[in-house]
Amino acid sequence: MSDCIFCKIIKGDIPSTTVFRDEHLTAFRDINPAAPTHILLVPNKHIDSVNALTGEDEQLVGHLVKVAGQLAAQEGIAEDGYRLIFNTGAHAGQTVLHIHLHLLGGAPMKYPMG
Ligand code: 5GP
Ligand code: ZN
Repeated sequence: MSDCIFCKIIKGDIPSTTVFRDEHLTAFRDINPAAPTHILLVPNKHIDSVNALTGEDEQLVGHLVKVAGQLAAQEGIAEDGYRLIFNTGAHAGQTVLHIHLHLLGGAPMKYPMG
């Protein structure tokens, strides 16, 4: 998707603070952090949202969650706790139409959300 901001970050056309990258995903720090640790984990292939996932993507989604847990440990927030969020669609406030997993932590967060 040539006009997708996250595709541009993955290609390196827009700078970002990358914390992890492999053949399947790229993880970088959110430009407008909502918590002391706020990382976005993004598949390297363009998928609009959870609504667009197919059976072929099951391993990819599992990999996103697994790497998120590893990054939480790397950031030193695994023990105290963290939150993983896939905002999906307008009501959830999804602003970038390239599926991404938010990893948030580093301080107590409010709950319930909504
Ligand atoms: P959403 O609201 O779609 O779930 O989350 C999109 C996230 O992407 C927001 O938290 C926003 O701050 C972040 N974001 C938007 N544009 C950029 C950018 O150019 N670079 C980085 N690092 N994050 C971005
Ligand atoms: Zn994209």
